[in-house]
Amino acid sequence: MTRTIIIDPGHGGDDPGAVCGSLLESDMNFKMAMALGIKANSAGFAFLLTRQSGAGATLETRCAVDRNCPSSVAFIAVHFNAGPDAATGTEIFYAGDIGGGHPSQSGMALGCAIMAALNTARLGLHDRGVKPDNQSQHPGGLYVLRNSTRPAVLVECGFLTNPGDVHLFADPEFRNRFAAAVISGVVKWLG
Ligand SMILES: [Zn+2]
Repeated sequence: MTRTIIIDPGHGGDDPGAVCGSLLESDMNFKMAMALGIKANSAGFAFLLTRQSGAGATLETRCAVDRNCPSSVAFIAVHFNAGPDAATGTEIFYAGDIGGGHPSQSGMALGCAIMAALNTARLGLHDRGVKPDNQSQHPGGLYVLRNSTRPAVLVECGFLTNPGDVHLFADPEFRNRFAAAVISGVVKWLG
């Protein structure tokens, strides 16, 4: 059975996510998710998106895509950050040990493999680290990481509020290189 990667472009529909001038996070997430899907195909995986272009989806629906796919091996949520102008680079979240539970070891391992691959690819992005989701902007944790049945990570690719990051990710060729690195991290992690 062909292994499937679930790719979750954050926000969409009535929820644009971060907005910076004319840039909508939901659009950037979808473009990045499509690049990831194409690179997943090139590496021999199938992929499923959790929403369509422009459309929204509830968090429950996104996790159901994962749960209902028997060949799913990993869940990758795709987002872009917003912050002070100086904030730049990529960070990856996994389900941490909120409420006395254990952190997701598989999510952490997947996140570390993806970040290592991004660093190896020398894309010129600052490595902000692989972190438990209680250190995200949602201290209570990120729903999709806590309710996916497969190892799950949320990749904050770069900052919409940082002109350098925006310049890089506006280039389709750069998005392809970023996507190829992420997928190569998944391949390494699967072993
Ligand atoms: Zn977001």
